[in-house]
Amino acid sequence: MYTDVSLFIDGEWTAGTSGKSEPIINPATGKTLARLAHAGTADLDRALAAADKGFKQWRSVSAFDRYKILRRAADLMRERAAEIGELMTLEQGKPLAEAKAEAASAGDLIDWFAEEARRTYGQIVPPRADGVSQLVIKEPVGVVAAFTPWNFPINQAVRKVSAALAAGCSVILKGPEETPASCAALVRAYADAGVPAGVVNLVFGVPSEISEYLIPHPIVRKITFTGSTPVGKKLAALAGQHMKRITMELGGHAPAIVFEDADVAAAAKMLAIAKFRNAGQVCVSPTRFLVQESVYDKFVDGFVATASGVKVGDGMNKDTRMGPLANSRRVEAMQMFVDDAVGKGAKLALGGKRIGTEGYFFEPTVLTNVPANARVMSEEPFGPLAVVVPFKSFDDVVAESNRLPYGLAAYAFTKSLKTASAIGAAIESGMVSINHFGLALPEVPFGGIKDSGYGTEGGSDAINAYLNSKFITQVGL
Ligand code: NAD
Repeated sequence: MYTDVSLFIDGEWTAGTSGKSEPIINPATGKTLARLAHAGTADLDRALAAADKGFKQWRSVSAFDRYKILRRAADLMRERAAEIGELMTLEQGKPLAEAKAEAASAGDLIDWFAEEARRTYGQIVPPRADGVSQLVIKEPVGVVAAFTPWNFPINQAVRKVSAALAAGCSVILKGPEETPASCAALVRAYADAGVPAGVVNLVFGVPSEISEYLIPHPIVRKITFTGSTPVGKKLAALAGQHMKRITMELGGHAPAIVFEDADVAAAAKMLAIAKFRNAGQVCVSPTRFLVQESVYDKFVDGFVATASGVKVGDGMNKDTRMGPLANSRRVEAMQMFVDDAVGKGAKLALGGKRIGTEGYFFEPTVLTNVPANARVMSEEPFGPLAVVVPFKSFDDVVAESNRLPYGLAAYAFTKSLKTASAIGAAIESGMVSINHFGLALPEVPFGGIKDSGYGTEGGSDAINAYLNSKFITQVGL
């Protein structure tokens, strides 16, 4: 059922003109599933021309009609979730139930942005002189180039594309080469729902070649990227040179703080389940577990007990709770982080090595008493690796939490309302979740600060990333 994946340009699925393609690998087996077409320059030019034409048409479709089309796309994603979920598990590796849930929840995100289309209100500003009217109206930015990664192949793309379409923009989506079929299924849902030809285009290829061609191109007015901080900085610099608006959703290294007054057993269990979701390949994954000294041992015991029960395997097996890593780069990165930390004195409490030689499996891994100079204390692990370190006081844990240039997500567990309020205020992070995991709903902000990027991809501000404010002042003749 998994077939070759094509480009989608001007309403047509096409293998493109470059003659180039790459294998799509099942990370659970290391075997080739099918091939992915690569776009060459001529294909990108066609996509640019289509998006330019599509923008002129789509911006004049009323917000109400855009809303109706997007709501249909949302329904199609829900109807097709089971089938799309299978494609996603085959190419990405996550457990089937999570893949289906991701496809179905795309419907909620599309619905949210469809509704936002109808609320792109302007303003009337009181004038200083009689007879003057001062209006602020919202207009779509124009053609959007969107770059999305492989960890949540639908979730990362649906936020960008739906916000852009709701605002009246057209899009060229550069999807993830590792996981192209689920992203293609999302694009198919928009097209089947009635988004006109040219308004959504999908390309794949060599990421740097595509971004270096699209970002400076005069037809493109807005860049949005989700991925690593180093790549994000490169793309943001290029966009800056060409005065393009940008949204950057980049890496993180989320502190998960457990105060001594928390329900430690419950926190350990919840955090261990959260840590190994999608094999830790989640930008908001809890990564630095900072636990107050007096409850440190109890936390480690509880965390390791839950982590050691995480069943690792092919995501297509019903009882699998954690699939393989997406590619061999992540396996190598995990081994490097573990060897480096252990070499510097960390204790390996669980896991620490690759599983088997087929596919890209790595054990759920827990490192304790990790020294501050271990690389994993400063570099995002982006894998099934938890580091647990003790802290003494509130001030110490705030200093450690804010030490890194990242600022995406943070978690804290405490029964004290005073501590909860204080930690919420003190953490430098785009999102803070206290005593539960409450992030990433369509209606709440989603985004980081500092080196984790800027702009939000959820909540009522998100659509503004795709809108310009235009001021019109007018006086009667
Ligand atoms: P990577 O930095 O090579 O790639 C990350 C993403 O950026 C991929 O989707 C890739 O296709 C894209 N990319 C890379 N170079 C690009 C370029 N020049 N122009 C346009 N797109 C480009 O890393 P990787 O090995 O694929 O993933 C590992 C790292 O990526 C992780 O450490 C993590 O920080 C980051 N990542 C973050 C997210 C997220 O949700 N924020 C998702 C996936 C990966």
